[in-house]
Order: sequence, then C-alpha cells, then structure tokens
Amino acid sequence: MVEKVIIIGSGPAGYTAAIYTSRDDLNPLLIRGFEVGGQLMLTSEIENFPGFKSILGPDLMDQFAEQVKNLKCRVIDENVSKVDFSSYPYKVYVGKDMYETYSVIIATGASVKWLGLDNEKRLLGKGVSGCAVCDGAFFKQKNVIVVGGGDSAMEDANYLSTLTDSVTLIHRRHEFRASKIMQDRVLSNNKIKVIWDSEVVEVLGKDHVEGVKIKNVKTGEEKEITAYGLFIAIGHTPNTDVFKGQIDIDENGYIITHNFTNTTKEGVFAAGDVQDKIYKQAVIAAGWGSMCAMDARKFLEEKNLSK
Ligand code: NAP
Repeated sequence: MVEKVIIIGSGPAGYTAAIYTSRDDLNPLLIRGFEVGGQLMLTSEIENFPGFKSILGPDLMDQFAEQVKNLKCRVIDENVSKVDFSSYPYKVYVGKDMYETYSVIIATGASVKWLGLDNEKRLLGKGVSGCAVCDGAFFKQKNVIVVGGGDSAMEDANYLSTLTDSVTLIHRRHEFRASKIMQDRVLSNNKIKVIWDSEVVEVLGKDHVEGVKIKNVKTGEEKEITAYGLFIAIGHTPNTDVFKGQIDIDENGYIITHNFTNTTKEGVFAAGDVQDKIYKQAVIAAGWGSMCAMDARKFLEEKNLSK
C-alpha cells in the first residue's frame, strides 16, 4: 500500500495537517515521534492561542491529540529514522519499517537551545523559559535576565522591557551578533542593562528561579545576580537532520520553502518552526499545517492520487 500523505511531527503544525487531511479523506499517517506534542509540552500557561483564555501547554497538546483521535487518523509514536525522496513514491523509514507515500508534510519543529546547566531543566516553567513572547506576561513588574547576543535575545530583551521592571542581558562576548538596528534598540533602552563577556554558570533557586551566578570569561570573576526570570535566547535548532541531502536546507538548518509550503522536492511540504525562523508561534505553525494539508490535497488531486 502506498500512503497518500505522511505527516511527520506532532506540534500544532503536524496535528493541524492531520486534522485537515483526515477531514479530506486522505487517510493520513501521522508519525508523531518519541517527544509527542513538541515544544509546547515544555511551556506552562499559554494565553496567546486564540480560543483559550489560558491553558497549559501540555493540556493544549492533549486537546490536539484528542481531536485527531476522533478523526481516526493512524498514529505512530516513533521517530523517523530515514527518508528517501530520490524516487517516487517517496520512502519514509521508522526503524526497520518502511512506508511508501505520494506526499509528505514535514512538521518536526525546532528545539530551543539550552545552556545545559543542572538547574535549568529543573526550573523550566518555574522561572526558566525559552520563549519570551509565550511567557513574558508572567513576569510583570519583576526583574528578568536574558541570555544571548543575537536578534532573538535583542527582541526578547526589548519585549520583556515593556512588561518587567528591569532586564539584564548577559552575553558571552563584548560584541553582539544581532543586526545593528536591534542592537541600537537594546543599547538605547534604559530598562535594559547589558553585562558583557560573561557566561551563566549556575541557575539559582529551589522551587523557582531566584537568580544566576555568572562568570566573567576574561577575568574569571564570579558574581550572583538576583532575578525572578531567566530567558534563554541563544537560538533554536530545527529538527532537520533526517532530511539533510533530500531537500534544500539553509545554513542554519531550516528547511527552505517556496510558494509558501513547497520544499525543493515536489509533493514534500513543510510547516511550522522547521521552516520558520522568524515568528515561531504555535498559532502560526497551526496555520502552516492547514496550508500544507490544502497544498498536499491539491498536489494529489492534480496527479489523480487523491482517491
Ligand atoms: P543566533 O543569531 O545564532 O544567536 C545566538 C546568540 O546566542 C549568539 O550571540 C551566541 O553567542 C549566543 N550563544 C550561542 N550559544 C551560547 C551558549 N551556549 N552560551 C551563551 N551564549 C550562546 O540565534 P538567534 O538570535 O535565535 O537568531 C537566529 C536567526 O533568526 C538569525 O538569522 C536572526 O537574524 C533571525 N532572527 C530574526 C529576528 C528578526 O529579524 N526580528 C528575530 C529573531 C531571530 P556568539 O555571538 O558569541 O556566538
């Protein structure tokens, strides 16, 4: 049997693609991966997903899963180990199992890069965050720290300065990597204090973030800074390893799309954070999931493969 459409990934993009393709009778196969639910499983309260005044990230993903279950979409909870888009139908491997398919929707998302410190994971959702837009509102009138020196860190610091009492931006070098305009905004913002040449070496706090210990990389001097929030903004890693060599991927690892959802391989579409280095929002990913589903259906119809 050749599948009509295989969807890879189980964040908002993958689930939305599954909902749309199920309702279009394309009988999709959804390969959710081992980490079902994606990045939202790591967030706490979500207040910016339309339709929900406030909902926990894992609860929102449960609702996506429930909706898909009711549509009788077939689901595999393992990782894709290999794909072969060199001949048609395409091949998708899950361990030893191989599935042939006429179209693929890639929605494997991206993972926040973390510092890798002991307390960082433990205090995730308890003051540690990888998404300022998602979690900033929980830090109103508090002091927060942002780590990083790229555009994401500048954007996060500026955004958080509109909500919080103060922002301390910690960067490991004496020069930002960010674009000039973003740097200028940060450097002229009197609510943001920059600490240069410093690395966070410890996250402080028992049940919630209380601050960080930093080390000056030039002098070796260590000191503690008090803060209620710690925003890590050192970049994202798109989950594209398995697609390398099969479709075009940019220098930062993001899938390159053209005409909205199309990758460089006909019939292979990409949605959500795996191809979005700017917005990175659940609602946007869900939107792209629906776009991919509609484009996959059109592609299958044009090839007379939708029935
Ligand atoms: P990025 O440009 O790769 O910057 C990552 C920053 O984090 C760098 O300053 C880096 O330091 C620092 N860093 C990396 N690993 C670290 C570690 N282990 N400890 C401490 N610091 C660490 O990532 P990004 O800021 O997420 O941006 C990614 C892409 O998206 C860029 O192309 C960016 O222009 C784009 N973007 C655009 C916008 C916008 O235009 N509105 C907004 C966000 C992102 P070093 O500088 O020392 O390497």
